[in-house]
Amino acid sequence: MPLDSPARHDPGSPRLEARLRRELKGEVLFDAFSRGRYSTDASIYQIEPLGVAVPKDREDVAAALAIAREEGVPVLPRGGGTSQCGQTVARALVLDCSKFMDRVVALDAGARRVKVQPGVVLERLNQSLRRHKLFYPVDVSTGDRATIGGMTANNSCGARSIRYGNMVHNVRAIDAILADGTAARFAEVPGNFGEEVEPERYRGLVRDMRALHRREADEIDRRFPKLLRRVGGYNIDMISDSGHNMAHLLVGSEGTLGFFTEIELDLQPIPPHRVLGICHFPSFYGAMDATQHIVKLGPSACELVDRTMIELARDIAMFRPIVDRFVRGEPEAILLTEFAGEDADDNLRRLKQLVELMGDLGLPDGVVEATDPTFQSAVWNVRKEGLNIMMSMKGDGKPISFIEDCAVRLEDLAEYTDRLTEVFRKHGTYGTWYAHASVGCLHVRPVLNVKQELDVRKMRAIAEEAFAMVREYKGSHSGEHGDGLVRSEHHEAMFGPRLVRAFEEVKDRFDPAGLFNPGKIVRPSKMDDRSLFRFKPNYRQLPLDSVLDWSEWGGFASAAEMCNNNGACRKSDPGVMCPSYRATGDEQHLTRGRANTLRLALSGQLGPEALTSEEMRETMALCVSCKGCKRECPTGVDMVKMKVEFLYHYKKRHGLSVRDRLIAYLPRYAPYAAPFAPLLNLRNRVPVLAALGEKAFGLSRRRSLPNWSSQPYRGASPHPNPPPRAGEGDHGRGVKNPPPQAGEGGERSERVGAAEVVLLVDTFNRYFEPENAWAAERVLARAGYRVTTPEPAVGRPQGRPLCCGRTFLAAGLIDEAKAEARRMLLTLAPAVAAGTPIIGLEPACLLTLRDEFPAMLPGDETKALAARAQLFEEFVASERAAGHFDLKLAAMPGRTALLHGHCHQKAFNTAGAAADALRLIPELTVETFDSTCCGMAGSFGLEAEHHDMSLKIGELGVLPKMRDAAPDTLLAACGTSCRHQIADAAGRQALHIVRILDDASA
Ligand SMILES: Cc1cc2nc3c(=O)[nH]c(=O)nc-3n(C[C@H](O)[C@H](O)[C@H](O)COP(=O)(O)OP(=O)(O)OC[C@H]3O[C@@H](n4cnc5c(N)ncnc54)[C@H](O)[C@@H]3O)c2cc1C
Ligand code: SF4
Ligand code: SF4
Repeated sequence: MPLDSPARHDPGSPRLEARLRRELKGEVLFDAFSRGRYSTDASIYQIEPLGVAVPKDREDVAAALAIAREEGVPVLPRGGGTSQCGQTVARALVLDCSKFMDRVVALDAGARRVKVQPGVVLERLNQSLRRHKLFYPVDVSTGDRATIGGMTANNSCGARSIRYGNMVHNVRAIDAILADGTAARFAEVPGNFGEEVEPERYRGLVRDMRALHRREADEIDRRFPKLLRRVGGYNIDMISDSGHNMAHLLVGSEGTLGFFTEIELDLQPIPPHRVLGICHFPSFYGAMDATQHIVKLGPSACELVDRTMIELARDIAMFRPIVDRFVRGEPEAILLTEFAGEDADDNLRRLKQLVELMGDLGLPDGVVEATDPTFQSAVWNVRKEGLNIMMSMKGDGKPISFIEDCAVRLEDLAEYTDRLTEVFRKHGTYGTWYAHASVGCLHVRPVLNVKQELDVRKMRAIAEEAFAMVREYKGSHSGEHGDGLVRSEHHEAMFGPRLVRAFEEVKDRFDPAGLFNPGKIVRPSKMDDRSLFRFKPNYRQLPLDSVLDWSEWGGFASAAEMCNNNGACRKSDPGVMCPSYRATGDEQHLTRGRANTLRLALSGQLGPEALTSEEMRETMALCVSCKGCKRECPTGVDMVKMKVEFLYHYKKRHGLSVRDRLIAYLPRYAPYAAPFAPLLNLRNRVPVLAALGEKAFGLSRRRSLPNWSSQPYRGASPHPNPPPRAGEGDHGRGVKNPPPQAGEGGERSERVGAAEVVLLVDTFNRYFEPENAWAAERVLARAGYRVTTPEPAVGRPQGRPLCCGRTFLAAGLIDEAKAEARRMLLTLAPAVAAGTPIIGLEPACLLTLRDEFPAMLPGDETKALAARAQLFEEFVASERAAGHFDLKLAAMPGRTALLHGHCHQKAFNTAGAAADALRLIPELTVETFDSTCCGMAGSFGLEAEHHDMSLKIGELGVLPKMRDAAPDTLLAACGTSCRHQIADAAGRQALHIVRILDDASA
């Protein structure tokens, strides 16, 4: 019985699992949740694997393959899982190389060669090569998460393939383990070879492949597209009797012929100079027609962006400014044309020729020239995010990848795109065109709802018509993304039956028992077999009374479905997303892993009550609610909101722990606890109390807890605050300014005619660091504002300060959080009505008004409050822009401030404003840096079981940066927990920016 027969397998087979656990050093994941997380790639398909192993090294791979062979179980190699055609899903044992097998093995910079393990991510590799002025040139859009193993097996291609070619042109050798356990180095084999080519099994393969090539040479010549962009089938066209590279047969084999354990690559020098000409066209056809002329100028890239994409990008806040800079007017299409090389003058000369060419084409002002490298890379980033920009589309209709990378000759490009657009129209849909015009490989995804049979039928019809057209043009139906489940079926029509039999012969010679990745390239299933779809015919969302407003997505489950597995959350920098993955390397602790687990649970695919199960709790446990995904996930997966919804249901079923209550209800008991500050603070000084705290409440003994202030903030004048006692309140941070005294802050606060502002002091700044609130009061007063802090209108006790409800949200206590939100709305209603700015200091708290309030209490009042609520730095920025905020600040010559932006500031784009606020201080140098979360994340880092993870996340960026700052550098951080983490784990004191401004304005 062949290995890919379903009858052979026992899903999650205990014997297989037990053997793997016994014999492998790496991880073994056989639970239903893990299998679910590995059942999708970035295609429309979903097949649950039998289990997952994460090998530590080559020996682990060999052992896993031997076990699989003996147990009669197929194997699916996996990298980042970002394939679009379904080649990375199978009913098999998945071997994930991305976690441990990610090392650069050997670099020979002189010979421009590198040997890597298959799990190395392209951009990581390029980072390590930069100091040698070298790079690996196959620049796939997914370069920040695609692994070299996956790229090799997919024969991936980048935007600059016209200059550098595809993977097959840049892979020198592959060390692979074959299905029978033979390990061989696949490399160049000369025409005449003898026993020096070993082992014997490999030698036999070389002989057989050459015989096959001799036999099929005419058919190959007749049927293989004569195009650079041809990645369908096996590369039998590259075999030659006069000598060929056997590695090239493995390139593009999609995990079906052997398991790569090491890959040797050719490197290129980084071109020192680049220029970019952005060619504008009033018609799409004109752009397509012009491409054949443009490529004659020898560009390193010529990439298309069409009008729909430009408009979608303009709608995304992150991209709008840059799109407005490089797109002039309303063109139907633009071609990003790059010239790169050693000679800067030569690049400029060719840019000039491009301008002349556009003039000859009747478009004299058709080129925007970009010579500044930063501007160029911002433009490229928009192009790179093309697919993601498109996928931000909400609802069930989605751009579907199945004819996305057909390639034709440049002279046919205009007619082909025109005819295909007509096919879409005939089937009642449309597609957005973009990408590799230079090589005739344009991406296009018709918008379809593959949850519905009708649209699935349309998918087949469009595919068949498109491929027939491609055949007519002698083009390639698979020009970049590979074959997988979506394309392999069409090989018969494209290559003809004879070559398909030859492909089968290749497979059978390498892998007679069908051990590797069944059903890809040869003996495929139908592309429209809905039993293999992510949304199978019986897919349904389970009924659930959600507590947050998910109407923007059409429900909680639909929000989880937004994840299309593109894997952007696997990047390691820049940006914030996703700290828990960066620290663990686990699919489980990744935004994608969480979204997929939720989707499976919410559609009943993980059994009853999966949403409130322990496994789901574990899946969510390391999400630090940083909101990195909210901003950086291209499809807008907002895991923080999903976690809150999950916690609500989970805690409703399982109840709250003592620690949950202790943290959640802090804003309620803080007024009663504050008078006992000296007593409570003993916990940080007496180790036995810390140990007891860990036992009783699960708060790590290795952590300090925030120090209670004995003089909490009591509201702006006319309720003056008492001065701090010596050594108290300022945490030893050398605060120059005391809290406002009766008559001081008050006098300023009540200045006649001054604009009024509401200062919203959160629980943390009120009870633990009131000096921040005092500083804010003083700074605002000095800058000409009258500060008020409204008395709460409702709630027990009547005078209990306002609270955003964040601590309740973190415990899933949404009803309590809603109660706090209602108090806030009621109390601030007059200020909102009067248009008074509402200013907060703590990003996590203030931004709750803008982010979570609308999800909890949707409505106009909430919207109005959200519109007025702003962080201190946002207020400063908007007031400065209006010519206000006149604050006299003393110069700080020679001083530097190093600012760490809180994750929520980054998510809401306010970190830049915080740096700008500091820059108001004359002669102060303000530095910022790119980093993920600090790791404290509210109470996360205080929790005993998360102590180590919290530090690990901090060490990814924030902690070393702060620790290594010069002793006289002013460290700035607006987040309470960031400051706590920096103090605890870097031994440095950071200040809220308002304190630094206060010092300078005193
Ligand atoms: C938004 C988006 C943009 C994309 N842009 C591009 C692009 O510009 N150019 C392009 O070419 N592709 C692109 N792709 C497709 C995909 O990202 C690439 O093909 C990428 O190289 C896949 O890498 P991976 O690590 O995710 O591989 P995976 O999906 O994990 O694996 C790919 C194949 O390789 C096999 N494999 C993995 N490791 C091994 C191994 N050790 N031994 C043998 N076989 C192995 C797998 O079995 C599978 O068949 C894009 C995809 C998305 C979602
Ligand atoms: S969570 Fe977002 S970034 Fe991650 S794979 Fe899903 S869609 Fe992509
Ligand atoms: S909120 Fe942060 S930790 Fe959680 S999934 Fe998103 S990026 Fe990852």
